[in-house]
Amino acid sequence: MKIAIIGAGIAGLASAVRMASKGHSVDVYEANAYPGGKLSQFELQGYRFDAGPSLFTMPQYVDELFQAAGLNPAEHFRYQRLPIVCNYFWEDQTRLSAFADETEFASEVEQKLGVEAAKLLQSLADSRRKYELSGRIFLEKSLHRLDTWLNLSVAKAMLKIPQFDLFTSMNKVNERMVQHPKLVQLLNRFATYNGSNPYKAPGLLTIIPHFEHHIGAFYPEGGMHNITQSVYELAQSKGARFHFNAPVEEILLKKNRAVGIKVNQETLHYDRIISNMDVFHAYRRLLPHAPQPEKILRQEKSTSALIFYWGVQRESPELNMHNILFSEDYRHEFDLLSQGKVSDDPTVYINITSKHTPGDAPQGCENWFVMINVPYNAGQDWDAIIARSRTQIIAKISRVLGVNLPDLIACEEILEPRSIESKTWSHLGALYGTSSNDRMAAFMRHPNFSSKIKNLYFVGGSVHPGGGIPLCLLSAKIVDEIMDKSPAI
Ligand code: FAD
Repeated sequence: MKIAIIGAGIAGLASAVRMASKGHSVDVYEANAYPGGKLSQFELQGYRFDAGPSLFTMPQYVDELFQAAGLNPAEHFRYQRLPIVCNYFWEDQTRLSAFADETEFASEVEQKLGVEAAKLLQSLADSRRKYELSGRIFLEKSLHRLDTWLNLSVAKAMLKIPQFDLFTSMNKVNERMVQHPKLVQLLNRFATYNGSNPYKAPGLLTIIPHFEHHIGAFYPEGGMHNITQSVYELAQSKGARFHFNAPVEEILLKKNRAVGIKVNQETLHYDRIISNMDVFHAYRRLLPHAPQPEKILRQEKSTSALIFYWGVQRESPELNMHNILFSEDYRHEFDLLSQGKVSDDPTVYINITSKHTPGDAPQGCENWFVMINVPYNAGQDWDAIIARSRTQIIAKISRVLGVNLPDLIACEEILEPRSIESKTWSHLGALYGTSSNDRMAAFMRHPNFSSKIKNLYFVGGSVHPGGGIPLCLLSAKIVDEIMDKSPAI
């Protein structure tokens, strides 16, 4: 079968591996000159930066791609579990390390915050329980096919829905479990892993700490970009052909079937099309004459990000690979994000890969990826927001860490909602497709196939099961399974 994949983001690459491994003829068309979409890298004056994702969870879904290709993942893609997941800092000089080992983490919390270790352990156990009850249905299956719902284990899990905390906010669940405001803030932060607001998002999202503290936070050898590079090389080795600088202009339809694509003014015929581009642009730009799923396309978007990539001429022993400097008023910060605004005291995330790979920065220096959450692009005055936020972020880091940061910044690059959209076609610069704030969000994302257009499939962060590397990889797995069950027409 001849298959065209539109976009070489991580889900497009994973689809290429899966399809080519089954012996299909696969062509991947990518608008950029490089693979990976958001998961890319760049160099600046001797510093290497991962451009987008910095946290790697659920590595088993990358391993599965090598297994699908008949290879032993350990021989081709290596990664390490981080002993400390994140260092947390507050303005009142409280500091704590979230150790990967949950008992160590709980005793650190007891020591630094005076919260009984058992409380955190219970909260993490609740996170695991919810994941085990719900994960397989919400994340690993298509929610839009009858055979999913006829499956006995799914039906059994649905009976347990009242235990998922779907109708309570994530914040309320965390307050119920651990009470202490700083620990609630720390656990609420996990909502940002899919661009949500912990005061609105359903309590089911309290499953996220389970990924980090039980399954683990990892770092791939060679950096996050090596996920892209390894999967790209794997797809090539299985025979997938890549076409770069090749923006697809149209998906060609014959009655209600996708029959090919138009790229660089050329018409090319395929049996099946897998779109890895943001589903909004796929409909609006490539399928303007097809029926549009308006309700889905108009859903609220997830948050975006403002990132400063700084070469820093200092080594900071108090920092780890992942670090968070919390805002004083977390609820206010999220209220403002919901209104399309940015707080004057944003929570600041600092990622430093040279802590793990010294070669990512010149000797004695560090490569800082400094990020705050910002709303998706609704036409705000971004130049003013960037200038103001830069001053506030630098002041906060200097204050909390006791350094004079302006003297230390050797070079700078910036990424913001407008450039996220222009570089990856992500609608309004949203990081994770649609927002997960609604309790029914899991059911409202675009399915992994089109019910109106035969032979057209969708993968990536803007469709089911959602954004983030692991879920994008799962979308490719779901499409692979669906295709096996539906013959091309
Ligand atoms: P994308 O990366 O969105 O790529 C889509 C590709 O399609 C692009 O290369 C684009 O050029 C191409 N394309 C679009 N239209 C066309 C067309 N018409 N023709 C040809 N090509 C086209 N996730 C995590 O798991 N952990 C993190 O720590 C994390 N942090 C993040 C930080 C930032 C700053 C960003 C931006 C994202 C982060 N994410 C994180 C989210 C994660 O990066 C995404 O969910 C994931 O990479 C999206 O992959 P995708 O397959 O949807 O494709």
